[in-house]
Parts: sequence; structure tokens; C-alpha cells
Amino acid sequence: MIEQQIKSAIRDIPDFPKPGITFKDITPILKDPILCESIVNAFAAHFQNAKIDAVAGIESRGFLFGLQLAGKLGVPFVPIRKAGKLPYTVKQMEYDLEYGSAKIEVHTDAFKPGQHILIHDDLLATGGTVTAAAKLVTEMGGMIAGFSFIVALGFLDGRKKIAPLADKVVVLAE
Ligand code: IMP
Repeated sequence: MIEQQIKSAIRDIPDFPKPGITFKDITPILKDPILCESIVNAFAAHFQNAKIDAVAGIESRGFLFGLQLAGKLGVPFVPIRKAGKLPYTVKQMEYDLEYGSAKIEVHTDAFKPGQHILIHDDLLATGGTVTAAAKLVTEMGGMIAGFSFIVALGFLDGRKKIAPLADKVVVLAE
């Protein structure tokens, strides 16, 4: 049921941000506080028995529900940001895009080695971003507790990239 509500709320924006790309706009979800609460509760229910020490959200839409999920689970929130945005000392991870590359960063004191980190983003497409985030976390000594996404684009190979951890992946709408 929540899947249908999410799918109805998300709107397709053709040719954004570039011609030929259909962007899934999740912002209409934010206008529905009951749906927002259901999303947070659905994620929390999936992970309530898992060992989670922090939720890491990926800039920027991963912050919207990542922080709320962390609050619901009663654990800290870790922002993973695009390069140059975090003010303290950072660890950086570069990853390939279709054309060129991108860099994400996390504060070096965001969590401790051995802690179990749940990685959250709004949407899984090719899986490049979340794979880089997982690498960032593991290279800092963190353990991947799972991944959570509101939506995954089934026609792309994102799930294959995180297939070794498939039992820890939660997607609310496909
Ligand atoms: P990936 O790295 O190809 O899996 O792309 C996922 C990242 O790009 C996430 O951080 C998403 O927020 C963002 N993204 C890619 N496509 C879309 C879209 O259609 N709607 C919303 N976010 C998107």
C-alpha cells in the first residue's frame, strides 16, 4: 500500500536535468506529512531488530528521511556530502559518473571504527553513489548495516552493485 502511495506521489519530469533523462521528483511526497511518517515508520520497522549505530544520509535528498529515520531508531545521523561542503577534516571518495566523476565526503569523526552504519538515500539508480558511500564507510572501519531507499529505478543496475548485501537492502517502491 505504501508502495502505491509513493508511486502516486512521485512525478516524472521529462528532460531534467538533461535532455533524454526522466527525473523522478520526490518533492510531492514532502507535501504529505502522513505519507512522510509512514515512510519513516516503514524503514524503521525493517531495521528495528538490526544492529545499527548510525544512519548515514547522502546529500541532499538522503537528508530528508535519513535524519528522521535516525531519530526514530534513536541513533546519530551522519551526513555524507558532496566535496567541499563539510567544514571539519574529511575522508573523500571519488567515483565515476556516466561522464566524468564525482566526490563525496564524510567527517573523519562522524562514527567510530566497528560501528554499524545504515546508508540511506532517496533513490537508487545506477548504484554508483551508494557504492561510493559504502566504500567510504568501510574504508573508515565502519560496517554496512544496510541500505534504504524510497525508490529504485528497476531498469538500471543499481541493485546488482549492492547484490552481495541484497538481504540488507530496503526499497519501498520499485
Ligand atoms: P546513482 O548513483 O546512479 O544510483 O544515482 C542516485 C543518486 O542520484 C541519488 O543520490 C539520487 O538522489 C540521485 N538521482 C538520480 N536520479 C534521480 C531521480 O530521477 N530522482 C531523484 N534523484 C535522482
